Amino acid sequence: MTHPAEEYDVLVAGGGPGGASAATFVAMQGHRVLLLEKEEFPRYQIGESLLPSTVHGICRLLGVADQVHEAGFVRKRGGTFAWGSGSEPWSFDFALSEKFAGPTSFAYQVERAKFDQLLLDNARSKGVEVRERCAVSEAVEEDGRVCGVRYTDADGVERTARARYVVDATGNSSRLQRAVGGERRYSEHFQNLALFGYFEGGRRLPEPNSGNITCVAFPSGWFWYIPLSDTLTSVGAVLRKDCADRVRGDRAEALGSLIDECPIIADYLSDAQRITEGRYGEVRVRKDWSYLHDTFWRPGLVLVGDAVGFIDPLFSSGVHMSTYSALLAARSLNTALRGELDERECFAEYEARYRKEYQTFHDFLVTFYDVNRDEQQYFEEARRVTGDAAPGAQAFVGLVGGGASDESALTSESYRDKRKQQLHELSRGVHWEGHRIQLQAAFGEAADDVPVTDGGLIASLDGMHWERSAEPV
Ligand code: FAD
Repeated sequence: MTHPAEEYDVLVAGGGPGGASAATFVAMQGHRVLLLEKEEFPRYQIGESLLPSTVHGICRLLGVADQVHEAGFVRKRGGTFAWGSGSEPWSFDFALSEKFAGPTSFAYQVERAKFDQLLLDNARSKGVEVRERCAVSEAVEEDGRVCGVRYTDADGVERTARARYVVDATGNSSRLQRAVGGERRYSEHFQNLALFGYFEGGRRLPEPNSGNITCVAFPSGWFWYIPLSDTLTSVGAVLRKDCADRVRGDRAEALGSLIDECPIIADYLSDAQRITEGRYGEVRVRKDWSYLHDTFWRPGLVLVGDAVGFIDPLFSSGVHMSTYSALLAARSLNTALRGELDERECFAEYEARYRKEYQTFHDFLVTFYDVNRDEQQYFEEARRVTGDAAPGAQAFVGLVGGGASDESALTSESYRDKRKQQLHELSRGVHWEGHRIQLQAAFGEAADDVPVTDGGLIASLDGMHWERSAEPV
């Protein structure tokens, strides 16, 4: 039986944080959006430690922050590291950076099945048509443009859906990314793999750090230790490629023997039991995650989240990168759908900003993996890669909290206000005043974005579109 093709403005493949966010940001502008997700939610996913930029920035913009705050997730004040040349573990606190100081100086450790369900339900409530158990198989093209996808629906029926734009948010396993052209480029620096499981009864750090992520370096790599409730802990060993043979054979035994080699983690887990049943009962392996696609879009198709790239679990940047890419791509989609700017310009803006954020995290992580430095040297390196001159640990915390881009949508209200004021002063210096007055007349406040490239676009005041800046900075 053949089915007539369905028509949408935007079709999103994949309902993880990237897909759900992109779909919601587009639907909130009144566009017709279909999201196709292969699994039935709630489904398992790794990536449980979030950043303040996601919790207070993206979730606020999505209109889901209240639900996230009420979900009972563990509050993450910062991170604790047994890392570097010093002998003592050290901690950082998100409140140290003015980008997050005040009521936004924390994030959450989340069970992804619950967090991702909240984002997907929110997409539905904001007008996205969400269909689960629908696996997208390939892009449909016409006249050199992607104009839809073929998918298998929940009843096993092959269907075609058409749209003006397709978003590939199918994550690490994306097959659609091939349709964009170019290649996935794997990192020369990061070729790690992870072996991870879940424990009941692991120890907690003393207050106020009990919700921190703990990262502990050991001879084969490092461990993450993430408290997901008072008693549930996610524990993973990230191993260098040359230690890959440590995960051959029985995975539970392999994880156990790695834990024995890391005294801090062995101590934290000395009274704990590994969970052996249900969603958390498996010891899982992940590898081949450090890559960036060398093309982000082509006419009719754009990649977001893990479909476009991921770096490394250290510093928990994955959900931040995925949802930030969704915001940037959604601005491009919303602007192109409104027909205000050429789509090439819109998607080039997405690509430029996302590459910058990716590169910043990447370059910092390359240095951080050198465990022969001390934390002061890591803080200095954070200042170098971000160009943020803030003293002490501030530039480091701004970066690892997800605020390196200085994107006002991702930072605290007080920092946004301060930045607006700075931009206002800057605008007077470069004769932007006419433009500012127009913007203020239209929206009642000053714009708070600057181009990141010569002649680049800036975010509109509502944060949901791109517009041309009146004057180059
Ligand atoms: P995903 O979360 O992978 O979502 C993609 C969705 O697409 C899935 O729901 C999938 O079912 C669906 N899909 C797949 N194929 C199809 C198809 N053909 N049709 C329709 N739907 C499809 N990030 C953090 O922020 N914090 C961490 O602590 C952290 N730890 C990590 C540890 C490890 C070992 C690894 C490998 C990653 C970690 N990450 C972490 C990264 C994080 O897992 C990802 O960056 C994040 O999940 C990306 O979100 P996404 O929406 O792009 O992709």
